[in-house]
Amino acid sequence: MAYRDEQLNEEKVFKDPVHRYVHVRDQVIWDLIGAREFQRLRRIKQLGTTFLTFHGAEHSRFNHSLGVYEIIRRILDNFSGQPNWNPDERLLCLTAALLHDLGHGPFSHSFEKVFHLDHEDFTNQIILGKTEINAILTKVDLDFPNKVAEVINKTYHNKLIVSLISSQIDADRMDYLQRDAYYTGVSYGHFDMERILRVMRPLPDKVVIKSSGMHAVEDYIMSRYQMYWQVYFHPVSRSAEVLLSKILHRVKELYSRQYSFKQEPKHFLAFFTGKMSVEDYINLDETVVMYYFQMWINENDTILSDLCQRFTNRRLFQYTDFNPIEKIVELKELAQLFESVGIDSNYYLVVDSSSDLPYDFYRPGEEGERLPIYLQMSNGELKELSRASEIVESISGKKRTDHKLYYPADLIEKLPDQNPKKARIKTLLGLK
Ligand code: CA
Repeated sequence: MAYRDEQLNEEKVFKDPVHRYVHVRDQVIWDLIGAREFQRLRRIKQLGTTFLTFHGAEHSRFNHSLGVYEIIRRILDNFSGQPNWNPDERLLCLTAALLHDLGHGPFSHSFEKVFHLDHEDFTNQIILGKTEINAILTKVDLDFPNKVAEVINKTYHNKLIVSLISSQIDADRMDYLQRDAYYTGVSYGHFDMERILRVMRPLPDKVVIKSSGMHAVEDYIMSRYQMYWQVYFHPVSRSAEVLLSKILHRVKELYSRQYSFKQEPKHFLAFFTGKMSVEDYINLDETVVMYYFQMWINENDTILSDLCQRFTNRRLFQYTDFNPIEKIVELKELAQLFESVGIDSNYYLVVDSSSDLPYDFYRPGEEGERLPIYLQMSNGELKELSRASEIVESISGKKRTDHKLYYPADLIEKLPDQNPKKARIKTLLGLK
């Protein structure tokens, strides 16, 4: 029997708190899960620094990837025998679901920003490069790695498959909303996925939702909206993110100044120079990063040592609402005041802005070109979701942004009371 059709003698199951069980029958899927590049995802947390806000949020990209695979597996079971669904695409679809996050690095968000990386690039490199994953995919057929990469890159010719893995109602989002809600313990993020899966219908170029499932989809959109503001953009997690990116900036800066480290940033060198191999990338996971941060607490450079101490022991920066565009003058004054009392404003005064667009209808040519959600009416006609649902319409296309200013309240408190600059800083920060 061809490798692509090989089935396990006995179905394997993973116990999963969100989907109860993840079922694996294909030998290819089983082998991919065992590959070292996939196992590495156990050492990358799904939500980065969010565990410093919600202590339960220690779940990994490994959990999430299995979850996305399982959702796709259930969708395809429902699709079997339906028009427009070609069962020959099943393995490709399952594989792309399983591997869609393969290229995520440690604390992806900050690392990508500081080092100008793109996890999607690394997903491609791991799938197409000299890796255990690639060897398994190539065994299916020589062109299989390319096809998997194309589905993940959204360039695959079968748009139905692309829309199952990435659209505004895809298996990725359906898994992470529920999983992140479960592990953070918040009451948002729950919706009736079983119902949504039951009313999904395959069309030649996209997946659509039977109109009777509209309310379940409304619930899903709202839960996404709430999760963004309650969990993903939580100001405390962003505070940890600020520290993390400042640590990386500091290490990079010290390295460029030929500072002599007690703990050389060996695993980071390829990131500084931008000349990194897949192997370099794979070798830097979150356990390694945390090791360095703990070691760097002992460095002579007080900024690096302090920032690492703060991150490791959760001594985060305080924050205040602060629109940097409206308050450009105050921001400049604050930076000068910080410098004049010996606090480096490049590292200790940080504006962070987060924004989200909860749902959008189709705007051709615009940033992101989000595929909208279509309802299939009983006469077969398609209707874009926000034209049928008033709830969704009310949040469609509306971008919301939140600006915060982060600073170390403890260092400011430590300034002597008779220093007039202390009072001025506190006034500008809105502190009592
Ligand atoms: Ca994902």
